[in-house]
Amino acid sequence: EAKNAGRDRITYFNAEIQNRLSERNTVIDRLKRAVRNGEIEPHYQSQHVLSDGRLTGFEALARWDDEVLGAVRPDVFISIAEQTGLIVELGEHLLRRACEDATQWAELMPKAPPVVSVNISPVQFARTDVTGLVSRVLHETGLPPELLEVEVTEGVLIASREKIAATLQELSELGVSIALDDFGTGYSSLSYLKDLPLNRLKIDQSFVKDLSRTASNPIVSTIVQLGHNLGLNVIAEGVEDQTDVDLLAELECDDGQGYLYSRAMTKEATSRYIAEIALQASQQ
Ligand code: C2E
Ligand code: MG
Ligand code: MG
Ligand code: MG
Repeated sequence: EAKNAGRDRITYFNAEIQNRLSERNTVIDRLKRAVRNGEIEPHYQSQHVLSDGRLTGFEALARWDDEVLGAVRPDVFISIAEQTGLIVELGEHLLRRACEDATQWAELMPKAPPVVSVNISPVQFARTDVTGLVSRVLHETGLPPELLEVEVTEGVLIASREKIAATLQELSELGVSIALDDFGTGYSSLSYLKDLPLNRLKIDQSFVKDLSRTASNPIVSTIVQLGHNLGLNVIAEGVEDQTDVDLLAELECDDGQGYLYSRAMTKEATSRYIAEIALQASQQ
């Protein structure tokens, strides 16, 4: 009897694995199609100065709403795109779109044009000429380099540190800013921080989530001071309420991004958001 139960379980597991595999293959097929048809588009989440709420820019976040699969979460499809190499084509498309959109926003807000932040995958750094791509896209779209920020995670540094450092240096020389995303969640040593041409640290939202618990404040505080000691701007992710803003501001964090200010918005909604801010500014 016990033997039978065991066999049933094995059959069950096999079926489960089969299902997962075919599910994964479906996602890969749909993803290929979506990338080919340009169906994955950036949405934009605003970034603000914590002390006065001033808009500084937007992070481009990829969104995919598939006819068959429905909305697929970015961490799911980005990771599949990385594993299959589709990220190269997808990343190029998202970068181009973000730069095109930011060019239009600069016209809506010429006095304080918002910066657009684009996530670049470690796979793109490892496999492609990111500097060549960025300079081509800036040239094609006419976006001034100072209105583009590239977000990299610590993961990027694990692969081939010297090559990455050289690429970041080239990007920096183009006039593009560089942010270190999800800071504090990676495994790399801190020594690389002084060797890279970084402009800002992004404190991972997991630290912001625990902010009211006093135990976590020393961590956020230390990241902020570390960033400032290195001459970097520090932005917190996952700012969800005014208490977060107050606590982060008290810890001298510069900027914030999160649901309190906005969710990721479509390009059209983002343009309306900017037009509204520009209108308010003109009435003051
Ligand atoms: P990330 O770059 O760290 O992006 C921040 C994530 O936090 C986004 O999730 C955003 O929607 C979410 N978020 C923003 N504000 C809040 C908040 O107040 N509370 C909470 N709980 N969450 C908030 P999303 O859009 O699901 O993206 C997940 C990850 O997928 C990103 O993390 C990034 O690693 C990756 N990703 C998204 N778009 C792209 C892209 O265009 N290219 C690449 N390479 N990766 C991307
Ligand atoms: Mg990011
Ligand atoms: Mg992040
Ligand atoms: Mg993240």
